[in-house]
Amino acid sequence: MTKKGGKGTKKREGSKKWMRYDLEGKIKRKNKFCPKCGPGVFMAHHADRDSCGKCNYTEFRKHRK
Ligand SMILES: [Zn+2]
Repeated sequence: MTKKGGKGTKKREGSKKWMRYDLEGKIKRKNKFCPKCGPGVFMAHHADRDSCGKCNYTEFRKHRK
């Protein structure tokens, strides 16, 4: 086992920045506001639907064709 410092560090910083951007964009897009509770209440994201934990409102997602 050998650890190489110099090369890995630069690459890590780069991918970290990318991840940050990606995560922020995904979270913003993924989390929908509940139409019943209003803005501020996020809905839980599921594979094919979003559901609100407050009022149990569930919105099914349409599959892309
Ligand atoms: Zn709700």
